[in-house]
Amino acid sequence: MITDRIKERLYRGLPVFSFEFFPPKTAQGEAALRAALKKLVPLQPAFVSVTYGAGGSARATTRKIVCSIRQDYGLTPMAHLTCIGHTYDEIRELIRQYRECGITGILALRGDPDRESGDWQPPPGGPKYALDVVRTARAAGVDTVAVAGYPEKHPEAPDLETDLRFLKEKVDAGADFVITQLFFNNDVYFEFVRRAREIGVTVPIIPGIMPVTRAGQIEKFHQLSGCVIPRRLVKQLEACGDDGDRVREIGLAYCAAQCMDLLRRGAPGIHFFTLNQSRACRTVFAVLHSMGFWDAEGE
Ligand code: FAD
Repeated sequence: MITDRIKERLYRGLPVFSFEFFPPKTAQGEAALRAALKKLVPLQPAFVSVTYGAGGSARATTRKIVCSIRQDYGLTPMAHLTCIGHTYDEIRELIRQYRECGITGILALRGDPDRESGDWQPPPGGPKYALDVVRTARAAGVDTVAVAGYPEKHPEAPDLETDLRFLKEKVDAGADFVITQLFFNNDVYFEFVRRAREIGVTVPIIPGIMPVTRAGQIEKFHQLSGCVIPRRLVKQLEACGDDGDRVREIGLAYCAAQCMDLLRRGAPGIHFFTLNQSRACRTVFAVLHSMGFWDAEGE
């Protein structure tokens, strides 16, 4: 099976490194994505995932890129699959199409409505939560199913306890592992893992990490995900002023140190949000490699 590599690494206790991309909107964007993929091949990630939009042509682009990752780059793809705007039959059909091109790994999500989808309501009796996608994928015989987790709680959840209860439902329905929302404070991640374990979530919880490479990015991350940014990092970035190279240097040094701390303290791997660029991840990997946290064979 194509996703054996993910499970094998997880169960052998080897760190699972993975990269996340989004479907490009233009031919130029697609060329940049393909260039990034090519440069990341030597790092032999356990899998490469591609996000799935709430509607429109980007959805078809996701399918095209997911299939291409396997066929053209020999990497293990994982398709994000959201239930927003889909019926159960459509989700089953997408899974069938993915299976036809050899893809059996799904990141099961609810998704967020975009401007086109407006105030989204599920069709009567239709899928409403990621849990419904997990169940559909499992019933359809999908080999590997991952789900999202939120160390700083999902923005709509009243509290972390409630959100964790729903995470457990997804895992109990058959999710093999969890990928987290991005965060910058590792203590928040380890506390999340502790509380998840306390209520019986036993599957691996892979931290999702975003390298900061531009000024202003961090404020955007905070607005989008509600993640707390450590004061120390904010101060260091502010001190860079207009010096873009220095911002990048600080952002990548922070990211490398954050990843090393995560791995040292027992995180099962790192899922990188790449923003379709390879340079930042390659820089961080070079540090992890030099510190003995990674080699291409994972031995
Ligand atoms: P769910 O697990 O369904 O949770 C959504 C909300 O409902 C939460 O507040 C939860 O507490 C609550 N909830 C869950 N189950 C129940 C229930 N039974 N009853 C009542 N409340 C419930 N978005 C995209 O559109 N495309 C992507 O490709 C994408 N990729 C992502 C990748 C990662 C690693 C992460 C962390 C997020 C990604 N997202 C993506 C964003 C995600 O879709 C949004 O955060 C979305 O708002 C929630 O999705 P979910 O799968 O976590 O939903």
